[in-house]
Amino acid sequence: MEKIKMTTPLVEMDGDEMTRVLWKWIKDILILPFVDLKTEYYDLGLKYRNETDDKVTFDSAEATKKYGVAVKCATITPNAARMPEYNLKEMWKSPNGTIRAILDGTVFRAPILVKGITSYIPTWTKPITIARHAYGDIYKNTELKVPADSKAELVYTDKDGKETRELIHNFTGDGIIQGIHNTDKSISSFARSCFNFALDTKQDIWFATKDTISKKYDHHFKDIFQEIFDSEYKTKFDEAGIEYFYTLIDDAVARVIRSDGGYIWACKNYDGDVMSDMVATAYGSLAMMTSVLVSPDGVYEYEAAHGTVQRHYYKYLKGEETSTNSVATIFAWSGAMRKRGELDNLPELVKFAERLEKATLQTIEDGVMTGDLYLLSNLDNKQKVDSETFLKEVAKRI
Ligand code: NAP
Ligand code: MG
Repeated sequence: MEKIKMTTPLVEMDGDEMTRVLWKWIKDILILPFVDLKTEYYDLGLKYRNETDDKVTFDSAEATKKYGVAVKCATITPNAARMPEYNLKEMWKSPNGTIRAILDGTVFRAPILVKGITSYIPTWTKPITIARHAYGDIYKNTELKVPADSKAELVYTDKDGKETRELIHNFTGDGIIQGIHNTDKSISSFARSCFNFALDTKQDIWFATKDTISKKYDHHFKDIFQEIFDSEYKTKFDEAGIEYFYTLIDDAVARVIRSDGGYIWACKNYDGDVMSDMVATAYGSLAMMTSVLVSPDGVYEYEAAHGTVQRHYYKYLKGEETSTNSVATIFAWSGAMRKRGELDNLPELVKFAERLEKATLQTIEDGVMTGDLYLLSNLDNKQKVDSETFLKEVAKRI
């Protein structure tokens, strides 16, 4: 059989621990036999990040800007325990944070639905994609504890040195204050990424804030979204037959629960953080959640939403059998290949991506699955297999 040709390389970002093991197996078992794979390889494994003083992470993000599509393996974000484990020069920053800052993107997370695994919310029969604004608000805050008998004010100083101030609270007893911010540039990028992704995936997009209470801060998000939608996207949305819908966050939460899914829910930073955990859990498993970073100028980086599955890796190192779910990582590869195929006009590559996804779902629907899904599945003929057997079963079905 002749292998499927590619024209532009994918930016390949390798990673750590169990997902690094799966990464190689996915390529060897599911991709290389079928595709004449072209990638520009960046080793984001912690060992090499440390050797290059994290330069490799920056280079991989720049390459993503250049080529337009990347696929990323899960990576360790170092904490104190990793310092001696990897003999680190520094506690390097989260690669995802670095890449996100360079690409200025929005992260879209969507569950992979499969027969035999029922959502905790039975009406959710289609995926709900969460778009989380990944800049500012409480994630870049300034906080203070305030002693009794203090006056707290909000102050900004303009370029001429003129101060504008507003009373926060006159404290009679002890208390706390917090300053948060966002920028028009970041909110506009967020809005454009959301509208582009909605057009790309032909889904409605919902956006919600607490603008009734936060009449300037949250209301500003609402206004920016509406302005950009009206001036740049309304016609395109009409043509695509999709809708932009704004509502109050309370109303959105109620509607989401009653819905059957099949739309994108754009969330401010904190809402996206907590709501994506709720949505992922309700659909069943973190290992069945895909994640794609989309920049406002249309650059895509695909990955799984879960981490490096450290506990399984230590078992693997001891030579013990593992049953780690590779589905989200497979879908990161298929997502990246599909996008590359669309951009380069390679219908065979697009078809292969579809085939790979179908084969993966078919395997699980045939009852062959890893341990995490085995616990959730309601199929009678279910069977738990190890990490590598699962991939071989998928390969048979391609
Ligand atoms: P994790 O790797 O997502 O794993 C947490 C637990 O969830 C696992 O121990 C496992 O439960 C279950 N799990 C997650 N993915 C699974 C899969 N594919 N198949 C089967 N079970 C799965 O999160 P973590 O343990 O908190 O973090 C480990 C490392 O990953 C950390 O160094 C962290 O920095 C990094 N991380 C990276 C990313 C990223 O690169 N995007 C994201 C998050 C975390 P059981 O052990 O009960 O089987
Ligand atoms: Mg969270």
